[in-house]
Amino acid sequence: MGIRRYENPITVNDAVALLSQEKGKTAVLAGGTDLIADIRAGISIDLVVDIKNIPELKILRWESDGTLIIGACVPVQRVAENEQIRHRYPGLATAAENLGSYQVRCRATIAGNLGNASPCADHSPALLVLNAKLRIASPQGSREVPLDGFIHDVKKTALKRGEIITAMIVPPQSAGLRSAFFKIKRIRGHDLALVNAAGAYDPEAREFRLAIGSVACKPVLVRGLEGIYQSSDTVESVGEKLTVKALSSISPIDDVRASAEYRCDMTALLCKKLARALLATKDK
Ligand SMILES: Cc1cc2nc3c(=O)[nH]c(=O)nc-3n(C[C@H](O)[C@H](O)[C@H](O)COP(=O)(O)OP(=O)(O)OC[C@H]3O[C@@H](n4cnc5c(N)ncnc54)[C@H](O)[C@@H]3O)c2cc1C
Repeated sequence: MGIRRYENPITVNDAVALLSQEKGKTAVLAGGTDLIADIRAGISIDLVVDIKNIPELKILRWESDGTLIIGACVPVQRVAENEQIRHRYPGLATAAENLGSYQVRCRATIAGNLGNASPCADHSPALLVLNAKLRIASPQGSREVPLDGFIHDVKKTALKRGEIITAMIVPPQSAGLRSAFFKIKRIRGHDLALVNAAGAYDPEAREFRLAIGSVACKPVLVRGLEGIYQSSDTVESVGEKLTVKALSSISPIDDVRASAEYRCDMTALLCKKLARALLATKDK
C-alpha cells in the first residue's frame, strides 16, 4: 500500500517521459483531493508524478479570438473567482464554486476532476455544454480531444499510458450565450452531487445544450435538442421537452447517495430549472 516512488518535474516533457518509462502503476498528482484519498483507502502506486511545479500548467488566459485556456494546475477556486468567467460562462463559475469547500477548491483542479472520471464530477456537465476540449501531452507531442467522449466509464478515460491533460480549452462561443449549472445534494453544505446538470442556450441560433451528471456511468451530453425551442413554446413546455430528452438519455442506479427513481425525479426538476434560468428573458 502507498507510493513506491515520487517525482516532481518542472516541465511537461519530463512529466510525460517519467510516466511513459515506468513499467508499473502510475498516477499524476495535481491537487491530490481525489488521489490522496484513494491512496489512503489502500491503492498502491509505483510512480506518482506531481505536476504542481510545472509553470505552464498554472496559466489561465483568454486568447484574442475568445478561446479560454485553463491550465491543468489552475485551482478550482481561481476559476470560481475569475470575473470574466463569471460574466461570460456563469454555468462554469457556478460549478466551480459548488465544488467542495473553500479549502478543497484551493487545492483541487478541473483537470483532476475530469481525470478522476467520477460520474458526479461537477465540471463535466459545465464544460460539456461549452463544447470544451482537452489538450493532452504525450512523449509524441500534444493533441486536442473533445471532452465529449473523453470519459469512458467510472474512473476510465481516453488517456493512454504516459499522457497527461495540460489544459482545458473552451472554444469561442456566440456573444449572447447563456449558461447555468444546478446541483442537488443531500445537505445544504458541501457534498457530492446526487444529480448535477448544466445547460447552455444560444438565443441567436435558438440552440440548447444540456448535460447531466451522476445519472449514468459517465456524464451524459443529451443529444437531439435541435429545434427544441419553437416560437409557440413557453418556458414550461421547453422544460418539459428537455425533461423527456434527458430521461431517455440517462441510466441512473441506486447507490448509497440516492435511488435511481429519485435521480430521475431530480433530473426532471433540474431540466425545468435550467429552462427557466436560460429563458429568463423571453426571445420572441
Ligand atoms: C472533501 C471533498 C469534497 C469534494 N467535493 C466535491 C464536489 O462537490 N464536487 C466534485 O466534483 N468533486 C468533489 N471532490 C472531489 C475532488 O476535489 C475533485 O474531483 C478534484 O477536482 C480533483 O482534482 P485534484 O487536482 O485534487 O486531482 P488529484 O486528486 O490530484 O487527481 C485525481 C485523478 O485525476 C488524475 N489527474 C489529475 N490531474 C491530471 C492531469 N493533469 N492529467 C491526467 N490525469 C490527471 C490523477 O492521476 C487522479 O487519478 C471533493 C473532494 C473532497 C476531498
